[in-house]
Amino acid sequence: MLPFPSLVRHEGNEPLFSAMEMSTLSTLGGVPLHLHVEGLRGTGKTTIMRAVSSVLPRLIRIKGCVHNCHLAAPHCPVHVKMSREELDACGTEEIPMPFLEISHSAKMGTVVGSIDLAKITDRQHPEAALLAGTIPQANRGIVFVDEINRLAEVAPELADVLLSVMGTKPGKIQIEETGLPVVQMPTWASVWATSNPDEDPGPLEDVRRQLSDRFDFLIHMARPTSVAQVVSILRRSGHEKAYAGDFEARMAAAFARSPVAGPAIEEMIARLYLDFGLESLRAVESLLHGARMRAGILGREEVTVSDVLEVAPMALRHRVEMGVLSQILSYIQGLGEKQAAGQSPSDQPPPGKSIPKPVQPTSSRDGRLVQDPLSRLFCKVKDALAGHPAAARQGTGTHAPGFDPFGRSTASAQQAPGSQTHRTLAQGRGGIADPMRVALTAPETEAVPVIMLAMNDLVRSPEQLEH
Ligand SMILES: [Zn+2]
Repeated sequence: MLPFPSLVRHEGNEPLFSAMEMSTLSTLGGVPLHLHVEGLRGTGKTTIMRAVSSVLPRLIRIKGCVHNCHLAAPHCPVHVKMSREELDACGTEEIPMPFLEISHSAKMGTVVGSIDLAKITDRQHPEAALLAGTIPQANRGIVFVDEINRLAEVAPELADVLLSVMGTKPGKIQIEETGLPVVQMPTWASVWATSNPDEDPGPLEDVRRQLSDRFDFLIHMARPTSVAQVVSILRRSGHEKAYAGDFEARMAAAFARSPVAGPAIEEMIARLYLDFGLESLRAVESLLHGARMRAGILGREEVTVSDVLEVAPMALRHRVEMGVLSQILSYIQGLGEKQAAGQSPSDQPPPGKSIPKPVQPTSSRDGRLVQDPLSRLFCKVKDALAGHPAAARQGTGTHAPGFDPFGRSTASAQQAPGSQTHRTLAQGRGGIADPMRVALTAPETEAVPVIMLAMNDLVRSPEQLEH
């Protein structure tokens, strides 16, 4: 395992570091924040997550409690029954925040725990006791699952356990043994998981949709893009200096703050839920909570629009279609600009009826792979078109009703083929073809993943396409 200070931060993995900070802080404060990081093999997601375990902050538990009971609110079968005096007599101890891993071959009993039969059948001192499993032992810390999409396929019973752990905050674990009463315990562990959507069995969303939605944040891990970044990784030095060593101190400082979201921010997030037809309330809860964590980490007492903008892609990427996400980001950005100009965010007209209802999130593997470059490309195109005379004439500018970066807007899609709008979308606005609507033929040159292409290579003129 690489020591944490030698990790190199770059543009592609920055969101992961940021999300891990938010989750650590939240876990320290007693609210689990579950992270799922997706990326190609070799991008370092597993390495980074494991390395963090060496710098996690410390926490205080009742002395010797393997379930990491908090002195103020004990929950394990032993301490939950004790009086205040008995608890105080137990004393406390400081331990590193737990970071425990669940492997794909783990047995149910070792993950959730089991009844200690040896103690129950002891003739001299019969006693009900639990053998703590991985999740109870990771209480108030992190449970790590590598390649969760494979785990969901090969061990569906463990996926069920995770569903229960992540279903509420705190989560629940249940220990069942034949002939014995069921034991249920709360858990405050955060689940951190990785997956590679391009390998079998495909994206977690396709394998176990419900589990995918339980993650507060989905982080897309990208490759380093500059020579300097790769050289830093090779040397294992350079960019990490400012970060090394102070993780715990930064967490402690952030923990002392309790950032609040003002009414304008709360209202804006509520509007996102209603006006963009978000499917689950979990999405907006994660968004608001994450924004508060980020504000705390950055040393602020109040959440700003920039916090919401930073957290929104993580909180919403797995919950809305890409076109809708890009509309949401533009909307939040608009509010940020107004705020910077000294206006109240609540002055912003609501996105309201001009926004098409989202369609079901795309689950095609290709769609996921290309989502980031494509959405960036369309943002550029959209900006360019805002000032384009043809766009203004046809009502397809940035703020036009029904605009959808993928051309699947309700207004245009319902028109008969061959109508003016349909032709315009298929053949391109301002001469740029919409790749979702034109026949694509593979060039004879060697294929390269879309995410590796430079922005300019994503656009081809009709002449270039013919050759
Ligand atoms: Zn305990």
